[in-house]
Amino acid sequence: MNMELPSGVTNIIERLNMAGYEAFAVGGCVRDRLLFRTPGDWDITTQATPQQVKALFDRTVDTGIQHGTVTVLIGKEGFEVTTYRVDGEYEDGRHPKEVSFTASLTEDLKRRDFTINAMAYHPKQGLIDIFGGEQDLKEKRVRCVGEPTERFTEDALRIMRAARFGAQLGFTVEERTKEAMAELKERLRMVSVERIYTELKKLLLSEHPEYLDLMIDTGVFQVVIPELAEAVEQEDIRKKMLKRLQESPADIYIRLALLFDTCLKGEGEDKKDAASKLLRRLKTDGETIKNVKNLVFLADKELEAEEIPIRQFLSHYPEDLLMRYLAIREVETGESPENQRLLAEKILKRGDCVSIRQLAITGSDLLEMGVPHGKKIGEILEYLLNEVLKKQELNEKEQLLKMAKQKL
Ligand code: ATP
Ligand code: MG
Repeated sequence: MNMELPSGVTNIIERLNMAGYEAFAVGGCVRDRLLFRTPGDWDITTQATPQQVKALFDRTVDTGIQHGTVTVLIGKEGFEVTTYRVDGEYEDGRHPKEVSFTASLTEDLKRRDFTINAMAYHPKQGLIDIFGGEQDLKEKRVRCVGEPTERFTEDALRIMRAARFGAQLGFTVEERTKEAMAELKERLRMVSVERIYTELKKLLLSEHPEYLDLMIDTGVFQVVIPELAEAVEQEDIRKKMLKRLQESPADIYIRLALLFDTCLKGEGEDKKDAASKLLRRLKTDGETIKNVKNLVFLADKELEAEEIPIRQFLSHYPEDLLMRYLAIREVETGESPENQRLLAEKILKRGDCVSIRQLAITGSDLLEMGVPHGKKIGEILEYLLNEVLKKQELNEKEQLLKMAKQKL
């Protein structure tokens, strides 16, 4: 078996070998290459200690030196080179509490989560596959390295990773691994929400977001997102939610909004607040919270295929939110809002006035006219915009000044 590696990876491996240390490409990149997928990044595992790695290469960055990882820079690219290690027990954070280095590749592969992630490759020695990872790839199976209950006890995040890799690759989770997921799910309470959200996000953004069903089936979802536990245990809601996820574009705001809109109780502002509270608990970024809560709020609102309501929408929300909202409506109603899309495009292309900034007059014009400083100015501009949203021809200086005078 012959695998093409990027020249940076081959160079690093050769250099380490020449200095007398074993080195291999390892983990996700080997898995992805065997599946003819493009690896996101290339990881190298080596017998050399971080200090020895640093001594061999001119440009390195200590990206995770306490866990044995040094990033080696070749040209503009960075490659993570990690010393063979045996992990101690994992704790709340992203890394095990203590790690110790080892001289054995086998030991290093043993600490890895799934057989498909525990293969190494060397340009001359070929594939090193101790746990049957290649066979599991062929049979499209996610299976723990070793005893699943032990592996999930060491690090409960692996429970979510099993579902996530299943969803990304379209694989089934092997029976004993799946049983252990259900058995040890409570241990996910000890894992940080940041790590949990990262895995949940990868699952939702995958080609098979409907694999969330596996998390619900095993009760894992109910442990990590207790806010939606009751809802997902109702057959009709669960089915509806999974179908919607499957039919939606792979966009995290859209998929989170569909999940929440389908499973959260209440309406309008209440639902929006519940979504925002949940996302805050998961410590997601502000941009995600803002977008998802707006989408949850809008999800059950209709938008007529008329220029005025679409301009009104665009005066409240940016263009990308409108497009996401329309995608959600399409999934939820089963009807394509093609007319709304076309009208929105026309409005945007034409550069219609949809904001105070785009009005043909400014606050200073109003001041000159004698309007006093303060709240009044904003109110008048707001009023003028509302009129212009209804009738674009009004957006002309003389006209707006006249209307402002009348209003006063
Ligand atoms: P991705 O495409 O998401 O990056 P990946 O397989 O590279 O997939 P990473 O999270 O980047 O996943 O981890 C790299 C490798 O490190 C994995 O392939 C696996 O061998 C090992 N690994 C990562 N996290 C764990 C974990 N929690 N427990 C055991 N091994 C792990
Ligand atoms: Mg990776």
